[in-house]
Amino acid sequence: MSELTRGAMSTEEVLATLRTLQSADLPAHGGRTLAYVYDSGLADADAVGLEALAMFASSNALDPTAFPSLQRMENDLVAMAGGLLDAPTGYAGSVTSGGTESILLAVLAAREAAGLEDPSMVLPTTAHAAFHKAAKYLGVRAVVVDVDPRTLRADPRAMAGAVDGSTVLVVASAPSYAHGVVDPVAEVAGHAAARGVRCHVDACIGGWVLPHLTDVGPWSFAADGVTSISVDLHKYAYTPKGVSLLLHRSAALRAGHFFASADWPGYTMLNTTTQSTRSGGPLAAAWAVTQHIGLDGYARLARGARQATLDVAAAAAGIPGLRVVAPPDATLLALATDGSCDVFTVADEMRERGWYVQPQLAHRALPATLHLTLSAATAPSVPELVVALADSVATARGAGPVAVDPALASLLASLDPTTLDDVGFARLLAAAGLAGDDGRLALPTRMAPVNALLDRCPPPLREALLLGVLDRLARPSGA
Ligand SMILES: *Cc1c(COP(=O)(O)O)cnc(C)c1O
Repeated sequence: MSELTRGAMSTEEVLATLRTLQSADLPAHGGRTLAYVYDSGLADADAVGLEALAMFASSNALDPTAFPSLQRMENDLVAMAGGLLDAPTGYAGSVTSGGTESILLAVLAAREAAGLEDPSMVLPTTAHAAFHKAAKYLGVRAVVVDVDPRTLRADPRAMAGAVDGSTVLVVASAPSYAHGVVDPVAEVAGHAAARGVRCHVDACIGGWVLPHLTDVGPWSFAADGVTSISVDLHKYAYTPKGVSLLLHRSAALRAGHFFASADWPGYTMLNTTTQSTRSGGPLAAAWAVTQHIGLDGYARLARGARQATLDVAAAAAGIPGLRVVAPPDATLLALATDGSCDVFTVADEMRERGWYVQPQLAHRALPATLHLTLSAATAPSVPELVVALADSVATARGAGPVAVDPALASLLASLDPTTLDDVGFARLLAAAGLAGDDGRLALPTRMAPVNALLDRCPPPLREALLLGVLDRLARPSGA
C-alpha cells in the first residue's frame, strides 16, 4: 500500500484503498465477531444512524447555545436512559465518548466532591480496567477486593470491610465484562450508603439489555445507594462508536465532572466531559438509532441476544473439555477448558472457522477464559457457532496444551518489567520468534503460543511486554 501522494487521490482511488485496508479488519457486521462490535442485524437502523452521523459530523457540542440541536438530542438520550435505569426525580446525565470516559468522569466527580488528600476507591477484581486507568489518571488509589470464587460476583461484605476514611467511591458491575455476571448491587450500594460513600454501577455493557430481562435483582437506581451508572450506547444500543452515557442520581452529584475556565483571553471554556470540541456526529447517530429501534425494538433485540447466550452456554457445557465459568446473567459468556487444551488454541481454531472469540488471560485465582459477547445478529447463527466451537475444541484437544519453550519461560521469569528497555525487548522478540528478518515485530496469525507465554507472566510484565508491542505497531507509515 501507498506511498503518500502529493497530488490528490480520486474519490474512486480513496474508496478502493479504504476497502483494501478494511479487508484486513474483523467484520463489524454479520454476528461472527464476538467482541469489540455489536450488530443489531437491522439494516434500516444502521442506515439511519449513518445518515445522522454524516449530517452532524461537523457540528460541535462545545457550545450548546450555538448548536441547540445537540443539547436537545443529548437531553433526549439521557431521558431515555433515565427511564430504563429507574432514575429518580432530579437525576441528571451527560453524553460521553465511551465507557472509559464515563468511568473517568464518575471517579472524578466522586473525588472532587470528597476533596480528600489521598482518595481511594473500592473495586471488585472483576471491575473493568477503565477503573485502573482512572486510578492512574486521577490519583485515586484502587483498593481491589477478590470476588466470590464460586459465583465470580463481588463480595459485598469483603468490599464493605475495605471501605475506610479515604474511600470516595465503591464500584459494582452489571454485568462484569470478563464473566458476564451481575454483582449484588443492592448489598454493595447499601453498605456504601451506610458509610456515606458513593456507589457507581458500571452498566456500560449491560445497561441497555438488563432492563428487558426479568431474572436479575435490582442493579439500577432502583437499588438504594447507587449514585451513578454508566451505559454505553455504542454497545447494546447498536449505535456507531463514540457514545456512552453517565447518569447521576442528582445534578449535584454530577457537578464535580463539569469544568469551566475563564482564565484566558478566549471564549470561556465550559465542558461537561473531558472533551471540549465534541462532534455532533456520534450523538446524532445515537439519537437516530435509538429513536428508530425504540424501546419495544430493544426489548426484542435483548431477548434474542439473551436466548442466543443461553443456547450457546447450554451447548458449550456439553462439549467435552469445555465449561461455562459462571451461568450468564446477561448476554456475555466466559468459557474455560478442563486443561486438556488451551483456550488460546480454541480461539485460533475459531478464527480459522470465521469466528472471533476473545482470549482472556488468567488473573489471580481465575483461569484463562474465552469471552463471547452475543449480539442480536448472532442469534440466527447459533447452530453454526456451536458446531465451530465443538470442532475447535476437538482440534485443540488433539493438539494438547500449548508447549512453552522452557528456555523462553525462564528468560521471561528473569525479566523485571520496570527495567525492560528497548534493546532487551528486541532480544525477547527474537527469542520468541516474533521478529522478522529486519528485526521488526512480525505478529503471527496463530496467537496461541504468544498468549500462552503471556498467561505465564504476572500482570505488570504482561503490561510492559504488550506496551512494547503497541509502541512498535504505532510508528509512522513508511518509517
Ligand atoms: C466496554 C466496557 C467499558 C469500557 O468502555 P469503552 O467504551 O471501551 O471505553 C467499561 N466497562 C464495561 C463493563 C465494559 O463492557
